[in-house]
Amino acid sequence: MDSNEFRRYGHEVVEWIARYFESVENYPVKSGVKPGAIKGALPDIPPAQSEPFDSFMHDLDEIIMPGITHWQSPNFFAYFPANSSPPSVLAEMLTSALGAQCMIWETSPAAAELEEKMMEWLRVMTGLPAEFEGVIQDSASSATLAALITAREKATKFRSNSEGLKDEGRLRIYASTQAHSSVEKGAGVAGFGRKNLVRVAIRSDYSIDPEALEKAIEKDLAQGFTPCCVVATLGTTGTTAIDSLSEVGAVCRKHGLWLHVDAALAGTALLLPEMRWMIRGIEYVDSLVFNPHKWMFTNFDCSAYFVRDAASLIRTFEILPEYLKTRTRGEVNDYRDWGIPLGRRFRALKLWAVIRSYGVEKLQLMIRGHIRFAGMLAGLIKAEEGFEMMAPVPLNTVCFRYCPAGMGDEEANLLNEKINHSLNDTGKIYLTHTKVEGRYVLRMVTAQTNLTEQHVLQAWNLIRETASAISSQDGTVNID
Ligand SMILES: *Cc1c(COP(=O)(O)O)cnc(C)c1O
Repeated sequence: MDSNEFRRYGHEVVEWIARYFESVENYPVKSGVKPGAIKGALPDIPPAQSEPFDSFMHDLDEIIMPGITHWQSPNFFAYFPANSSPPSVLAEMLTSALGAQCMIWETSPAAAELEEKMMEWLRVMTGLPAEFEGVIQDSASSATLAALITAREKATKFRSNSEGLKDEGRLRIYASTQAHSSVEKGAGVAGFGRKNLVRVAIRSDYSIDPEALEKAIEKDLAQGFTPCCVVATLGTTGTTAIDSLSEVGAVCRKHGLWLHVDAALAGTALLLPEMRWMIRGIEYVDSLVFNPHKWMFTNFDCSAYFVRDAASLIRTFEILPEYLKTRTRGEVNDYRDWGIPLGRRFRALKLWAVIRSYGVEKLQLMIRGHIRFAGMLAGLIKAEEGFEMMAPVPLNTVCFRYCPAGMGDEEANLLNEKINHSLNDTGKIYLTHTKVEGRYVLRMVTAQTNLTEQHVLQAWNLIRETASAISSQDGTVNID
């Protein structure tokens, strides 16, 4: 592709993206393709000769788009937000054009220094303490793994990196039963062993029970284990439960444990001063991760990882082959020492574009709107006969079910599963479920970039109609 063709197709692609953003609402939200359909439509062998870019674009429309689930649709209420936005997309195009490897300062000084500055901006925007320093990671899973490995190194006086884990096989990690699967994965990968992740009981609001945490630690001590790290969650994946950092932190302080905070989803809410109660107790926290690539309109991937003591993080990950030795070492941040990969994308650019393009006040307005939508929806659900709320709604996620009076849990589970599939099959909205204490629960996340109150109300009407249609078909409800 020469420069003239690049220019021509470049304009076409931007036009395609603009049209997509304008019409994304009209696509069936969840892709309805059958397994193997896309693979079957693709040639078995790669082209030997050059093909025109037009045919690539043609196949994008014909073959790929039917197999896309539209996370950028305002009718996407599933899983969690994975928000994109126009400024983020434009900056991402520039990042890929520059194709810079941002492993050390010298391999692109602007990338390293913009990353440092963006993490300072995010720290100020979220009200985190001045002593925290940050680095952009690809995902919260990687950041949590980095936290667990650093905690392990500190607990073993930085021996296990060089000697391997020997007697340290009895190090323990604690997190609630609601903590994300990345904690368990990290426990395995970091050499603790998945069995050494202790799942701590929860309170009625699904947050970790600090007394149960303390008991679990004391029991482990009595049995010769070495407590090492606690992972608290702000905004659990299932129900957005919020662990109390001050109560968990006090237990960590007493026993000298690392406290890592997984705020992957909820961290963005800290942009709102009225939500900063979530970080009461931050003085106990050693590390915290949140994902601008979820709720902060910055397309995947962009995870903000903050640490209180950057020196321990660097000591854990630093490795210095001859060919990477530089004259600026020690004066600047070489981010390959702040996490697992060596090669790193220039992710700070899209964050800069998003924050400047919206401005903090507009970001706050949008996030506040999302939290208000969740509250409004919860109010409608509470007022509707036959529906019940299944968890508190502190943020952007509403957990509920349809369970007409007199119906047992087992029957309600089947009914709600049916309602969920039937809603998603319409293509009009997409929502997913969780299980809360054995009960099948519908989850509706109201945090997509383009979401308006109207979309929430339309979705709610569809849910009500679908629920009553299915239960009357089933004859499970007697309508007097
Ligand atoms: C989404 C999520 C994660 C995982 O985030 P990735 O960036 O995809 O690794 C971890 N914890 C919580 C609470 C989440 O919501």
